[in-house]
Amino acid sequence: MTSVQTEVVEDPKGLLNEDDHMRDMERLRMEIVAIRQPFDSVMRVTGRIEPVDPVTWTLPNVAVRIEVESPAGQRPVSRVYTIRRYDSALGEVEIDFVLHDDDSPAMRWLHAVQPGDDVWMTGPRPHFVPDHASGKQAAIFADETAIPAVFAILEAWPADATGTVWIEAGSLAAVDELPEVEGVEVHILQRAKDEAAGTTGRLFAAARSAVADVSGWTVWAAGERQEMRDLRNHFRAAGMARDDLKVLGYWKKGTSSSELDRMRLAEYARMRESGLSMDDMRDADIAV
Ligand SMILES: Cc1cc2nc3c(=O)[nH]c(=O)nc-3n(C[C@H](O)[C@H](O)[C@H](O)COP(=O)(O)OP(=O)(O)OC[C@H]3O[C@@H](n4cnc5c(N)ncnc54)[C@H](O)[C@@H]3O)c2cc1C
Repeated sequence: MTSVQTEVVEDPKGLLNEDDHMRDMERLRMEIVAIRQPFDSVMRVTGRIEPVDPVTWTLPNVAVRIEVESPAGQRPVSRVYTIRRYDSALGEVEIDFVLHDDDSPAMRWLHAVQPGDDVWMTGPRPHFVPDHASGKQAAIFADETAIPAVFAILEAWPADATGTVWIEAGSLAAVDELPEVEGVEVHILQRAKDEAAGTTGRLFAAARSAVADVSGWTVWAAGERQEMRDLRNHFRAAGMARDDLKVLGYWKKGTSSSELDRMRLAEYARMRESGLSMDDMRDADIAV
């Protein structure tokens, strides 16, 4: 078991609380309303919130940082998750936690939390969506951790846009829940029971074979960090413009998110010292 101590990310200069990092996000309390397991690989948490600015929560693909462990006198240990759905009438959010076998902060929190509990979180941070304004068809590559983002993106899909979605998942049920959208094809790349997430390279393989002529496509991709790096490098080498590539590593096989957060913070601190801001951060350039 990793100790809470090693998961704490120190921020001695308080950079993460400054406006440049916070933008319009708020730290707010979420009351857990329900926890259920819609299928084997996911626990779905419904929580009630009272946001200052409810409108931002309705945007497709916004993320929050949930304080999953709160050691006394230290910064909380937090993990990033996507708001799958926000019901503004009820003030409720839905968050899907992909289950994995590691004894990790998010999994420990998830296995202990009960309806009626409170948890603090910070958000929402609007994340990228396919660039429909480009007029190109969208190619979407996602593993399970990005299905909530794909769900929200498909729910807000513009009537005249076209796209193809490739999803790697261990369970077909996770994909069956996605809304059917005219103009969007969905391909499932199913993992066998003995294959671990983040090891098959199937999203990368699909990207290479299905999107041969890059000129007509704009890409949205999220999943395991090394696979996303390979995918981005491939499309850059194939001549795709940076603006047509919205790719983010959501987690890294064998590495705690606290370690990724430490490296992100170190890079952010370097940028701020050079007079730059959050807008200049490029997650892909961080060497992990
Ligand atoms: C913008 C963004 C949005 C995200 N949205 C979601 C979401 O909606 N749902 C979701 O489930 N995740 C989402 N993630 C990914 C999630 O933050 C990570 O999976 C996170 O590492 C989980 O924290 P943990 O404490 O369980 O594991 P950590 O302490 O970070 O890692 C411990 C070990 O577990 C492994 N691990 C972590 N996650 C997985 C996984 N999914 N499968 C297999 N092994 C894993 C790591 O490789 C490491 O070896 C998102 C990430 C980002 C950046």
